[in-house]
Amino acid sequence: MPEQLPRVVIVGGGFGGLAAAKALRRTSAEVILIDRSNHHLFQPLLYQVATSVLTPGQIGSPIRGILGKQKNTTVVLGEVSAVNTEQRCVVASSADRAEVPIAYDYLILATGVRHSYFGHDDFERFAPALKSLADAVAIRNRILQAFEQAEAEEDPSRHRDLLTFILVGAGPTGVELAGALAVLVQTTFRSEFRRIDPLSTRIVLVDMASRVLGSFAEDLSSAAQRRLERLGVEVRLGHAVDQVDEGGVIVAGERIASRTVIWTAGVAPSPAGKWLAVETDRAGRIKVQTDLTVPGHPDIFVVGDTAALQQDGRPLPGVAQVAMQQGRYAGTLIHRRVSGKPALRPFRYFDKGSMAVVGKGFAVLQAGRVRISGFLAWLAWAAVHLEFVGQTNLRVSVLVQWMWSYLTSRRGSRLIVNHHASANRSVEQLAQEENEMLVGLLRLRARR
Ligand SMILES: Cc1cc2nc3c(=O)[nH]c(=O)nc-3n(C[C@H](O)[C@H](O)[C@H](O)COP(=O)(O)OP(=O)(O)OC[C@H]3O[C@@H](n4cnc5c(N)ncnc54)[C@H](O)[C@@H]3O)c2cc1C
Repeated sequence: MPEQLPRVVIVGGGFGGLAAAKALRRTSAEVILIDRSNHHLFQPLLYQVATSVLTPGQIGSPIRGILGKQKNTTVVLGEVSAVNTEQRCVVASSADRAEVPIAYDYLILATGVRHSYFGHDDFERFAPALKSLADAVAIRNRILQAFEQAEAEEDPSRHRDLLTFILVGAGPTGVELAGALAVLVQTTFRSEFRRIDPLSTRIVLVDMASRVLGSFAEDLSSAAQRRLERLGVEVRLGHAVDQVDEGGVIVAGERIASRTVIWTAGVAPSPAGKWLAVETDRAGRIKVQTDLTVPGHPDIFVVGDTAALQQDGRPLPGVAQVAMQQGRYAGTLIHRRVSGKPALRPFRYFDKGSMAVVGKGFAVLQAGRVRISGFLAWLAWAAVHLEFVGQTNLRVSVLVQWMWSYLTSRRGSRLIVNHHASANRSVEQLAQEENEMLVGLLRLRARR
Protein backbone atom coordinates (compact mmCIF):
# COMPACT_ATOMS: atom_id res chain seq x y z
CA MET A 1 0.00 0.00 0.00
CA PRO A 2 1.51 3.40 -0.92
CA GLU A 3 1.91 5.71 2.04
CA GLN A 4 -0.91 8.27 2.35
CA LEU A 5 0.60 11.76 2.33
CA PRO A 6 -0.72 14.34 4.78
CA ARG A 7 -2.96 16.91 3.09
CA VAL A 8 -2.55 20.65 3.55
CA VAL A 9 -5.54 22.73 2.42
CA ILE A 10 -4.92 26.45 1.87
CA VAL A 11 -7.93 28.72 1.42
CA GLY A 12 -6.96 31.90 -0.45
CA GLY A 13 -4.33 32.54 -3.12
CA GLY A 14 -3.53 36.11 -2.08
CA PHE A 15 -0.26 37.22 -0.53
CA GLY A 16 -0.57 34.96 2.55
CA GLY A 17 -1.91 31.81 0.87
CA LEU A 18 0.55 31.94 -2.00
CA ALA A 19 3.54 32.41 0.33
CA ALA A 20 2.36 29.41 2.36
CA ALA A 21 1.97 27.26 -0.75
CA LYS A 22 5.47 28.18 -1.96
CA ALA A 23 6.98 27.33 1.45
CA LEU A 24 5.47 23.85 1.10
CA ARG A 25 6.94 23.12 -2.34
CA ARG A 26 9.43 20.52 -1.06
CA THR A 27 7.16 19.02 1.60
CA SER A 28 6.04 15.41 1.39
CA ALA A 29 2.44 16.45 1.44
CA GLU A 30 -0.49 16.90 -0.88
CA VAL A 31 -1.17 20.64 -1.03
CA ILE A 32 -4.57 21.92 -2.22
CA LEU A 33 -5.01 25.66 -2.72
CA ILE A 34 -8.61 26.83 -3.10
CA ASP A 35 -9.48 30.32 -4.30
CA ARG A 36 -12.73 31.71 -5.60
CA SER A 37 -10.88 33.69 -8.22
CA ASN A 38 -8.41 32.17 -10.67
CA HIS A 39 -5.77 34.85 -10.18
CA HIS A 40 -3.44 36.24 -7.59
CA LEU A 41 -3.93 39.99 -7.42
CA PHE A 42 -1.34 42.63 -6.63
CA GLN A 43 -3.77 44.86 -4.72
CA PRO A 44 -1.35 47.74 -4.03
CA LEU A 45 -1.54 48.68 -7.73
CA LEU A 46 -5.32 48.40 -8.12
CA TYR A 47 -5.61 52.17 -8.04
CA GLN A 48 -3.45 52.33 -11.19
CA VAL A 49 -5.93 50.13 -13.06
CA ALA A 50 -8.79 52.34 -11.81
CA THR A 51 -6.99 55.42 -13.17
CA SER A 52 -5.96 53.88 -16.52
CA VAL A 53 -2.21 53.65 -15.86
CA LEU A 54 -2.03 49.85 -15.98
CA THR A 55 -4.25 47.15 -17.47
CA PRO A 56 -5.83 44.38 -15.34
CA GLY A 57 -3.48 41.80 -16.86
CA GLN A 58 -0.46 43.69 -15.54
CA ILE A 59 -1.36 43.26 -11.88
CA GLY A 60 -3.00 39.85 -11.84
CA SER A 61 -1.49 36.42 -12.58
CA PRO A 62 -3.27 33.05 -12.82
CA ILE A 63 -2.61 31.10 -9.60
CA ARG A 64 -2.43 27.91 -11.67
CA GLY A 65 0.43 29.47 -13.66
CA ILE A 66 2.34 30.65 -10.59
CA LEU A 67 2.18 27.21 -8.94
CA GLY A 68 2.24 25.23 -12.19
CA LYS A 69 5.71 23.78 -11.61
CA GLN A 70 4.99 22.84 -8.00
CA LYS A 71 4.18 19.16 -8.46
CA ASN A 72 2.73 18.51 -4.99
CA THR A 73 0.17 21.34 -5.33
CA THR A 74 -3.31 21.30 -6.88
CA VAL A 75 -5.19 24.54 -7.51
CA VAL A 76 -8.96 24.48 -7.15
CA LEU A 77 -11.24 27.27 -8.34
CA GLY A 78 -13.97 27.31 -5.72
CA GLU A 79 -15.62 29.25 -2.93
CA VAL A 80 -15.26 27.95 0.60
CA SER A 81 -18.36 28.49 2.73
CA ALA A 82 -17.67 26.49 5.90
CA VAL A 83 -15.12 24.54 7.92
CA ASN A 84 -16.09 21.40 9.82
CA THR A 85 -13.43 21.11 12.51
CA GLU A 86 -14.77 17.79 13.84
CA GLN A 87 -14.63 16.03 10.48
CA ARG A 88 -11.58 18.09 9.50
CA CYS A 89 -12.84 19.28 6.15
CA VAL A 90 -13.67 22.52 4.37
CA VAL A 91 -16.85 22.87 2.34
CA ALA A 92 -16.27 24.31 -1.14
CA SER A 93 -18.49 25.02 -4.14
CA SER A 94 -17.40 25.40 -7.75
CA ALA A 95 -19.29 26.27 -10.92
CA ASP A 96 -20.64 22.74 -11.34
CA ARG A 97 -20.55 21.25 -7.84
CA ALA A 98 -21.99 22.67 -4.64
CA GLU A 99 -20.80 22.13 -1.08
CA VAL A 100 -18.14 19.49 -1.65
CA PRO A 101 -16.27 18.47 1.52
CA ILE A 102 -12.48 18.57 1.11
CA ALA A 103 -10.63 16.84 3.94
CA TYR A 104 -7.49 18.33 5.50
CA ASP A 105 -4.78 17.32 7.94
CA TYR A 106 -3.55 20.91 8.14
CA LEU A 107 -5.58 23.95 7.20
CA ILE A 108 -4.32 27.45 6.40
CA LEU A 109 -6.96 30.16 6.17
CA ALA A 110 -5.77 33.18 4.19
CA THR A 111 -9.03 34.69 3.02
CA GLY A 112 -8.16 38.39 3.40
CA VAL A 113 -10.76 41.08 3.93
CA ARG A 114 -13.81 42.58 2.25
CA HIS A 115 -14.73 46.24 2.26
CA SER A 116 -16.89 47.57 5.03
CA TYR A 117 -19.37 50.44 4.89
CA PHE A 118 -19.43 50.68 8.70
CA GLY A 119 -23.02 49.47 8.93
CA HIS A 120 -24.20 51.58 5.96
CA ASP A 121 -24.42 48.81 3.39
CA ASP A 122 -26.90 50.96 1.45
CA PHE A 123 -23.94 53.24 0.48
CA GLU A 124 -22.42 50.46 -1.63
CA ARG A 125 -24.86 51.02 -4.52
CA PHE A 126 -23.64 54.57 -4.96
CA ALA A 127 -20.03 54.33 -3.80
CA PRO A 128 -18.16 51.29 -5.14
CA ALA A 129 -15.05 50.15 -3.29
CA LEU A 130 -11.70 49.03 -4.64
CA LYS A 131 -10.78 45.48 -3.77
CA SER A 132 -10.80 43.33 -6.90
CA LEU A 133 -9.93 43.72 -10.58
CA ALA A 134 -13.65 43.89 -11.38
CA ASP A 135 -13.95 46.79 -8.90
CA ALA A 136 -11.01 48.60 -10.50
CA VAL A 137 -12.44 48.24 -14.02
CA ALA A 138 -15.89 49.33 -12.79
CA ILE A 139 -14.36 52.45 -11.19
CA ARG A 140 -12.34 53.17 -14.33
CA ASN A 141 -15.56 52.89 -16.36
CA ARG A 142 -17.34 55.34 -14.05
CA ILE A 143 -14.54 57.90 -14.15
CA LEU A 144 -14.18 57.78 -17.94
CA GLN A 145 -17.95 57.72 -18.44
CA ALA A 146 -18.37 60.84 -16.29
CA PHE A 147 -16.03 62.79 -18.59
CA GLU A 148 -17.77 61.45 -21.71
CA GLN A 149 -21.18 62.40 -20.33
CA ALA A 150 -19.99 65.87 -19.38
CA GLU A 151 -18.53 66.35 -22.87
CA ALA A 152 -21.88 65.34 -24.40
CA GLU A 153 -23.97 67.39 -21.96
CA GLU A 154 -25.41 70.57 -23.48
CA ASP A 155 -26.41 72.13 -20.18
CA PRO A 156 -23.23 73.47 -18.49
CA SER A 157 -24.97 73.58 -15.10
CA ARG A 158 -24.88 69.78 -15.13
CA HIS A 159 -21.13 69.65 -15.73
CA ARG A 160 -20.33 70.46 -12.13
CA ASP A 161 -21.65 67.27 -10.51
CA LEU A 162 -20.43 65.13 -13.43
CA LEU A 163 -16.92 66.49 -12.95
CA THR A 164 -16.89 66.21 -9.16
CA PHE A 165 -15.25 63.06 -7.80
CA ILE A 166 -15.51 62.22 -4.11
CA LEU A 167 -13.27 59.71 -2.41
CA VAL A 168 -14.33 58.59 1.04
CA GLY A 169 -11.32 57.52 3.13
CA ALA A 170 -7.90 59.19 3.23
CA GLY A 171 -5.78 56.11 3.93
CA PRO A 172 -3.20 54.96 1.35
CA THR A 173 -5.84 53.84 -1.19
CA GLY A 174 -7.78 57.13 -1.05
CA VAL A 175 -4.63 59.26 -1.20
CA GLU A 176 -3.09 57.26 -4.06
CA LEU A 177 -6.33 57.24 -6.04
CA ALA A 178 -6.93 60.98 -5.52
CA GLY A 179 -3.37 61.83 -6.62
CA ALA A 180 -3.51 59.56 -9.69
CA LEU A 181 -6.90 60.95 -10.72
CA ALA A 182 -5.63 64.53 -10.43
CA VAL A 183 -2.63 63.69 -12.63
CA LEU A 184 -4.86 61.93 -15.19
CA VAL A 185 -7.05 65.00 -15.48
CA GLN A 186 -4.24 67.55 -15.58
CA THR A 187 -2.04 65.74 -18.06
CA THR A 188 -3.73 63.18 -20.31
CA PHE A 189 -7.24 64.66 -20.37
CA ARG A 190 -6.16 68.28 -20.51
CA SER A 191 -5.98 68.52 -24.30
CA GLU A 192 -8.44 65.83 -25.31
CA PHE A 193 -11.85 67.36 -24.68
CA ARG A 194 -13.42 70.15 -26.71
CA ARG A 195 -16.58 71.17 -24.89
CA ILE A 196 -15.52 70.81 -21.26
CA ASP A 197 -12.44 71.99 -19.45
CA PRO A 198 -10.97 68.98 -17.61
CA LEU A 199 -9.07 71.40 -15.36
CA SER A 200 -12.39 72.41 -13.81
CA THR A 201 -12.63 68.89 -12.32
CA ARG A 202 -13.14 68.84 -8.58
CA ILE A 203 -11.62 65.99 -6.56
CA VAL A 204 -12.66 65.85 -2.90
CA LEU A 205 -11.00 63.51 -0.39
CA VAL A 206 -13.05 63.09 2.79
CA ASP A 207 -12.12 61.41 6.06
CA MET A 208 -13.31 61.61 9.64
CA ALA A 209 -9.68 61.36 10.85
CA SER A 210 -7.72 64.52 11.53
CA ARG A 211 -5.00 63.75 8.98
CA VAL A 212 -4.43 61.82 5.77
CA LEU A 213 -2.36 58.59 5.89
CA GLY A 214 -3.06 58.15 9.60
CA SER A 215 -0.71 55.16 9.90
CA PHE A 216 2.30 57.30 8.85
CA ALA A 217 4.26 59.79 10.97
CA GLU A 218 2.71 63.25 11.22
CA ASP A 219 5.32 65.03 9.10
CA LEU A 220 4.74 62.53 6.26
CA SER A 221 0.97 62.98 6.56
CA SER A 222 1.44 66.74 6.24
CA ALA A 223 3.78 66.33 3.25
CA ALA A 224 1.22 64.09 1.53
CA GLN A 225 -1.61 66.53 2.23
CA ARG A 226 0.40 69.48 0.89
CA ARG A 227 1.18 67.52 -2.24
CA LEU A 228 -2.47 66.60 -2.75
CA GLU A 229 -3.51 70.21 -2.33
CA ARG A 230 -0.90 71.32 -4.83
CA LEU A 231 -2.48 68.86 -7.26
CA GLY A 232 -5.80 70.59 -6.66
CA VAL A 233 -7.35 67.89 -4.45
CA GLU A 234 -9.69 69.29 -1.78
CA VAL A 235 -8.88 67.51 1.49
CA ARG A 236 -11.75 67.58 4.01
CA LEU A 237 -10.85 66.03 7.33
CA GLY A 238 -12.50 65.62 10.73
CA HIS A 239 -15.97 64.70 9.48
CA ALA A 240 -17.52 61.39 8.56
CA VAL A 241 -19.77 61.07 5.54
CA ASP A 242 -23.36 61.10 6.82
CA GLN A 243 -25.08 60.16 3.61
CA VAL A 244 -24.20 58.75 0.20
CA ASP A 245 -26.87 58.63 -2.52
CA GLU A 246 -27.27 59.14 -6.27
CA GLY A 247 -26.88 62.89 -5.81
CA GLY A 248 -23.51 62.75 -4.03
CA VAL A 249 -22.66 62.88 -0.32
CA ILE A 250 -23.55 64.85 2.80
CA VAL A 251 -20.55 65.77 4.97
CA ALA A 252 -20.91 67.86 8.13
CA GLY A 253 -24.38 68.93 7.02
CA GLU A 254 -23.19 70.07 3.57
CA ARG A 255 -24.26 68.34 0.39
CA ILE A 256 -21.54 67.88 -2.20
CA ALA A 257 -23.15 67.04 -5.51
CA SER A 258 -21.34 64.34 -7.45
CA ARG A 259 -22.09 61.52 -9.86
CA THR A 260 -18.96 59.58 -8.88
CA VAL A 261 -18.32 58.62 -5.26
CA ILE A 262 -15.65 56.02 -4.51
CA TRP A 263 -15.37 54.22 -1.19
CA THR A 264 -11.76 53.93 -0.02
CA ALA A 265 -12.48 53.56 3.70
CA GLY A 266 -12.87 50.53 6.02
CA VAL A 267 -12.30 46.85 5.60
CA ALA A 268 -14.11 43.91 7.20
CA PRO A 269 -12.55 40.47 7.60
CA SER A 270 -13.74 37.43 5.70
CA PRO A 271 -16.26 35.25 7.55
CA ALA A 272 -13.53 32.74 8.56
CA GLY A 273 -14.06 33.56 12.26
CA LYS A 274 -17.68 32.46 11.94
CA TRP A 275 -16.71 29.26 10.12
CA LEU A 276 -14.52 28.23 13.06
CA ALA A 277 -16.73 29.77 15.79
CA VAL A 278 -13.63 31.02 17.59
CA GLU A 279 -12.64 34.25 19.30
CA THR A 280 -12.12 37.28 17.09
CA ASP A 281 -10.97 40.82 17.82
CA ARG A 282 -13.33 43.79 17.62
CA ALA A 283 -12.76 44.02 13.87
CA GLY A 284 -13.75 40.34 13.46
CA ARG A 285 -10.25 39.01 12.74
CA ILE A 286 -9.40 35.61 14.21
CA LYS A 287 -7.14 35.83 17.26
CA VAL A 288 -4.17 33.55 16.64
CA GLN A 289 -1.32 32.36 18.85
CA THR A 290 2.30 33.26 18.24
CA ASP A 291 2.71 30.16 16.04
CA LEU A 292 -0.27 31.46 14.00
CA THR A 293 -2.51 28.54 15.02
CA VAL A 294 -6.01 29.03 16.35
CA PRO A 295 -6.28 28.32 20.11
CA GLY A 296 -7.56 24.75 20.59
CA HIS A 297 -6.85 23.86 16.93
CA PRO A 298 -3.13 23.10 16.49
CA ASP A 299 -3.75 21.99 12.89
CA ILE A 300 -5.47 25.24 11.79
CA PHE A 301 -3.42 28.33 10.88
CA VAL A 302 -4.78 31.77 10.02
CA VAL A 303 -2.54 34.27 8.20
CA GLY A 304 -2.71 37.73 6.67
CA ASP A 305 -5.52 40.24 6.91
CA THR A 306 -7.95 37.79 8.46
CA ALA A 307 -5.66 37.05 11.46
CA ALA A 308 -5.29 39.23 14.56
CA LEU A 309 -1.93 39.12 16.32
CA GLN A 310 -0.31 41.59 18.67
CA GLN A 311 3.39 42.30 18.57
CA ASP A 312 5.04 44.47 21.24
CA GLY A 313 1.57 45.42 22.46
CA ARG A 314 0.30 46.62 19.07
CA PRO A 315 -1.81 44.80 16.48
CA LEU A 316 0.02 43.90 13.29
CA PRO A 317 -1.22 45.98 10.32
CA GLY A 318 -3.22 44.57 7.41
CA VAL A 319 -0.47 44.87 4.81
CA ALA A 320 1.02 42.58 2.20
CA GLN A 321 4.33 42.10 4.05
CA VAL A 322 2.59 40.75 7.17
CA ALA A 323 0.53 38.34 5.06
CA MET A 324 3.59 37.11 3.12
CA GLN A 325 5.75 36.63 6.21
CA GLN A 326 2.93 34.85 8.06
CA GLY A 327 2.13 32.63 5.08
CA ARG A 328 5.79 31.66 4.76
CA TYR A 329 5.96 30.94 8.51
CA ALA A 330 2.82 28.74 8.52
CA GLY A 331 4.04 26.79 5.48
CA THR A 332 7.51 26.28 6.99
CA LEU A 333 6.07 25.20 10.34
CA ILE A 334 3.87 22.58 8.67
CA HIS A 335 6.87 21.41 6.63
CA ARG A 336 8.83 20.93 9.84
CA ARG A 337 6.00 19.07 11.53
CA VAL A 338 5.55 16.76 8.54
CA SER A 339 9.31 16.09 8.37
CA GLY A 340 9.54 15.48 12.12
CA LYS A 341 11.78 18.50 12.72
CA PRO A 342 11.59 20.72 15.82
CA ALA A 343 9.10 23.60 15.78
CA LEU A 344 10.03 27.17 14.87
CA ARG A 345 10.43 30.09 17.23
CA PRO A 346 7.28 32.21 17.64
CA PHE A 347 6.36 34.31 14.62
CA ARG A 348 7.84 37.79 14.57
CA TYR A 349 7.01 40.37 11.92
CA PHE A 350 9.96 42.20 10.40
CA ASP A 351 8.69 45.61 9.33
CA LYS A 352 10.44 46.71 6.12
CA GLY A 353 8.55 50.01 6.07
CA SER A 354 5.52 51.60 4.45
CA MET A 355 5.12 53.79 1.39
CA ALA A 356 2.39 55.68 -0.41
CA VAL A 357 2.46 57.53 -3.73
CA VAL A 358 0.93 60.98 -4.15
CA GLY A 359 0.59 61.90 -7.81
CA LYS A 360 3.49 61.79 -10.24
CA GLY A 361 7.06 61.28 -9.01
CA PHE A 362 6.26 61.83 -5.34
CA ALA A 363 5.90 59.34 -2.48
CA VAL A 364 6.24 59.18 1.29
CA LEU A 365 8.37 56.47 2.85
CA GLN A 366 8.65 55.41 6.47
CA ALA A 367 11.02 52.61 7.54
CA GLY A 368 12.05 52.60 11.20
CA ARG A 369 13.57 56.00 11.86
CA VAL A 370 13.94 56.78 8.17
CA ARG A 371 11.23 59.15 6.94
CA ILE A 372 11.49 60.70 3.51
CA SER A 373 9.13 62.23 1.00
CA GLY A 374 9.58 63.29 -2.62
CA PHE A 375 11.15 61.85 -5.74
CA LEU A 376 13.67 59.58 -3.95
CA ALA A 377 10.87 57.98 -1.98
CA TRP A 378 8.96 57.52 -5.24
CA LEU A 379 11.96 55.75 -6.84
CA ALA A 380 12.16 53.44 -3.80
CA TRP A 381 8.40 52.82 -4.07
CA ALA A 382 8.71 51.96 -7.76
CA ALA A 383 11.64 49.58 -7.17
CA VAL A 384 9.91 47.75 -4.30
CA HIS A 385 6.62 47.40 -6.17
CA LEU A 386 8.35 46.11 -9.28
CA GLU A 387 10.17 43.55 -7.16
CA PHE A 388 6.87 42.18 -5.82
CA VAL A 389 4.73 42.52 -8.91
CA GLY A 390 4.88 38.80 -9.71
CA GLN A 391 6.32 37.30 -12.84
CA THR A 392 9.22 38.69 -14.89
CA ASN A 393 7.11 39.44 -17.98
CA LEU A 394 4.73 41.57 -15.87
CA ARG A 395 7.64 43.34 -14.21
CA VAL A 396 9.07 44.33 -17.59
CA SER A 397 5.70 45.45 -18.97
CA VAL A 398 4.86 47.49 -15.84
CA LEU A 399 8.29 49.16 -15.92
CA VAL A 400 7.91 50.08 -19.61
CA GLN A 401 4.36 51.34 -19.00
CA TRP A 402 5.49 53.50 -16.04
CA MET A 403 8.37 54.98 -18.01
CA TRP A 404 6.08 55.70 -20.96
CA SER A 405 3.43 57.34 -18.73
CA TYR A 406 6.06 59.30 -16.83
CA LEU A 407 7.74 60.69 -19.93
CA THR A 408 4.70 61.29 -22.14
CA SER A 409 1.90 61.77 -19.56
CA ARG A 410 -0.15 59.37 -21.72
CA ARG A 411 -2.33 56.68 -20.23
CA GLY A 412 -2.91 53.76 -22.53
CA SER A 413 -5.67 51.94 -20.79
CA ARG A 414 -8.53 54.41 -21.08
CA LEU A 415 -11.15 51.91 -22.15
CA ILE A 416 -14.76 51.88 -21.05
CA VAL A 417 -15.41 48.14 -20.93
CA ASN A 418 -18.96 47.51 -19.92
CA HIS A 419 -20.00 44.35 -21.75
CA HIS A 420 -23.05 43.68 -19.68
CA ALA A 421 -24.24 47.23 -19.21
CA SER A 422 -27.54 46.66 -20.97
CA ALA A 423 -28.20 43.44 -19.08
CA ASN A 424 -27.99 45.34 -15.78
CA ARG A 425 -30.30 48.19 -16.79
CA SER A 426 -34.05 48.26 -16.77
CA VAL A 427 -36.03 48.68 -19.99
CA GLU A 428 -37.10 52.15 -18.79
CA GLN A 429 -33.47 53.21 -18.21
CA LEU A 430 -32.46 51.99 -21.65
CA ALA A 431 -35.39 53.78 -23.29
CA GLN A 432 -34.54 57.00 -21.44
CA GLU A 433 -30.85 56.76 -22.41
CA GLU A 434 -31.83 56.13 -26.03
CA ASN A 435 -34.08 59.20 -25.95
CA GLU A 436 -31.31 61.35 -24.45
CA MET A 437 -28.88 60.18 -27.14
CA LEU A 438 -31.42 60.92 -29.90
CA VAL A 439 -32.06 64.40 -28.55
CA GLY A 440 -28.28 65.00 -28.41
CA LEU A 441 -27.81 63.83 -32.01
CA LEU A 442 -30.70 65.96 -33.27
CA ARG A 443 -29.20 68.99 -31.54
CA LEU A 444 -25.86 68.35 -33.19
CA ARG A 445 -27.55 68.02 -36.62
CA ALA A 446 -29.58 71.16 -36.03
CA ARG A 447 -26.38 73.09 -35.27
CA ARG A 448 -24.80 72.06 -38.55
C1 LIG B 1 -6.70 48.92 -2.91
C2 LIG B 1 -5.70 48.30 -1.96
C3 LIG B 1 -4.43 48.82 -1.86
C4 LIG B 1 -3.49 48.27 -0.99
N1 LIG B 1 -2.23 48.81 -0.94
C5 LIG B 1 -1.30 48.22 -0.18
C6 LIG B 1 0.05 48.69 -0.18
O1 LIG B 1 0.37 49.67 -0.87
N2 LIG B 1 0.97 48.05 0.60
C7 LIG B 1 0.61 46.96 1.35
O2 LIG B 1 1.47 46.38 2.01
N3 LIG B 1 -0.64 46.51 1.39
C8 LIG B 1 -1.60 47.10 0.64
N4 LIG B 1 -2.88 46.62 0.66
C9 LIG B 1 -3.22 45.54 1.60
C10 LIG B 1 -2.76 44.18 1.07
O3 LIG B 1 -3.17 44.01 -0.25
C11 LIG B 1 -3.32 43.11 1.99
O4 LIG B 1 -2.82 43.33 3.28
C12 LIG B 1 -2.94 41.72 1.51
O5 LIG B 1 -3.51 41.48 0.25
C13 LIG B 1 -3.42 40.67 2.50
O6 LIG B 1 -3.09 39.41 2.01
P1 LIG B 1 -4.03 38.18 2.35
O7 LIG B 1 -3.37 36.97 1.79
O8 LIG B 1 -4.40 38.19 3.79
O9 LIG B 1 -5.39 38.47 1.57
P2 LIG B 1 -5.62 38.73 0.03
O10 LIG B 1 -4.38 39.08 -0.66
O11 LIG B 1 -6.77 39.66 -0.04
O12 LIG B 1 -6.07 37.32 -0.52
C14 LIG B 1 -7.25 36.69 -0.10
C15 LIG B 1 -7.59 35.63 -1.13
O13 LIG B 1 -8.59 34.79 -0.59
C16 LIG B 1 -9.57 34.53 -1.58
N5 LIG B 1 -10.81 34.23 -0.86
C17 LIG B 1 -11.45 35.01 0.04
N6 LIG B 1 -12.53 34.39 0.53
C18 LIG B 1 -12.58 33.18 -0.08
C19 LIG B 1 -13.48 32.08 0.01
N7 LIG B 1 -14.55 32.11 0.82
N8 LIG B 1 -13.24 30.99 -0.76
C20 LIG B 1 -12.18 30.95 -1.60
N9 LIG B 1 -11.29 31.97 -1.72
C21 LIG B 1 -11.49 33.06 -0.96
C22 LIG B 1 -9.64 35.81 -2.39
O14 LIG B 1 -10.13 35.58 -3.69
C23 LIG B 1 -8.16 36.23 -2.41
O15 LIG B 1 -7.47 35.71 -3.52
C24 LIG B 1 -3.85 47.16 -0.20
C25 LIG B 1 -5.13 46.62 -0.28
C26 LIG B 1 -6.06 47.18 -1.17
C27 LIG B 1 -7.45 46.60 -1.27
